[in-house]
Amino acid sequence: MAELKLQRKIPLVDLHAQYLSIKPEIDAAIARVIENSAFIGGDEVRLFEEEFAAFCEAKACVGVANGTDALALTLRALGIGPGDEIITVAHTFIATAEAISSVGATPVFIDIKEDTMLMNPELVEPAITTRTKAIIPVHLYGQPCEMDRIIAIAKKHGLKVIEDAAQAHGARWNGKRVGTLGDAACFSFYPGKNLGAYGDGGAVVSQDVELVARIRMLANHGRKEKYLHEIIGVNSRLDGLQAAILRVKLSHLNDWNDQRKRLVSVYRELFDTEKIRLPIVDSFAEPVWHLFVVRIADRVELQAQLKKQGIETGVHYPVPLHRQPAYVGHRKVCGLLPVTDQTAESVLSLPLFSELDKDLIGKIVTTVHQLI
Ligand SMILES: *Cc1c(COP(=O)(O)O)cnc(C)c1O
Repeated sequence: MAELKLQRKIPLVDLHAQYLSIKPEIDAAIARVIENSAFIGGDEVRLFEEEFAAFCEAKACVGVANGTDALALTLRALGIGPGDEIITVAHTFIATAEAISSVGATPVFIDIKEDTMLMNPELVEPAITTRTKAIIPVHLYGQPCEMDRIIAIAKKHGLKVIEDAAQAHGARWNGKRVGTLGDAACFSFYPGKNLGAYGDGGAVVSQDVELVARIRMLANHGRKEKYLHEIIGVNSRLDGLQAAILRVKLSHLNDWNDQRKRLVSVYRELFDTEKIRLPIVDSFAEPVWHLFVVRIADRVELQAQLKKQGIETGVHYPVPLHRQPAYVGHRKVCGLLPVTDQTAESVLSLPLFSELDKDLIGKIVTTVHQLI
């Protein structure tokens, strides 16, 4: 087999390349916060919240410390607690379930769809009990779930819908931005996300202004005034430095998401689909391609070989949540989850970030074709 030697390694994501492309703007934003000593709260946080709500085409936004807290605080603000059940998927990052557990509720895992790898709406209704309070669809890899069907079931049974939009900043379902579909949507600004801070950060976006106000109070020691605490809250705030950085990056987000989309079409043009299964997009979905996830039978071997050739890949996620040791005895599983199990064994995330180019994708595809 002819060895294709790469001139430089291709990482899964390249945060440094992104920084270099906007360095003067970022450096100025950081300096501005330090000059003003506006470390907690202040104008940058307030403006970011306004700008991110506008980006999501939603009525209100509150910044919090991270995406996990965004989910947990939303659950608390909706009055969800011990004894309650929340229907979600096991094919997601652990944080989706941790947020449910952190308020004392129980995650109920249902299977995903074979094509899109997202929540299977047909399995929601059979999972509903008298304890069920909400559904958390996860817009995994940047693709929104089948929201019209999920919301219809929720309405019929009086359940809340909380979007886990941690991987889907800017995605649309049937023309509407995620964040305007359910009762609330929770975002993460973990550095590697489509909109990433230079540390931890998160936000809740909603059309329900009062819900957002309640979350804001919970996230800031349960107060509205400085030393008057109406409820027992927590400390989970987005800080000024992160907000200033996020404001700069938000102004580029549509361009970056468009670029991700173009790079995905390059992958699609070049790949031989007899050998590898490419992502399937629902006809109502406009994904933002947080990850480019292919499916392949012998993933372990391919991943090891690609690493040798300097191409970094990832697995999102190798162990589904119903099989995580931490969750034994702390979750409900609705039937077997055959699609979830099968998916976890075959998914492979290939490099995708907006500074990647067509030549590098060509090299990745050629290398994969030589190995399979
Ligand atoms: C990243 C992520 C979260 C949690 O976000 P943090 O900011 O890391 O707490 C939640 N759900 C999903 C699907 C994620 O990818």
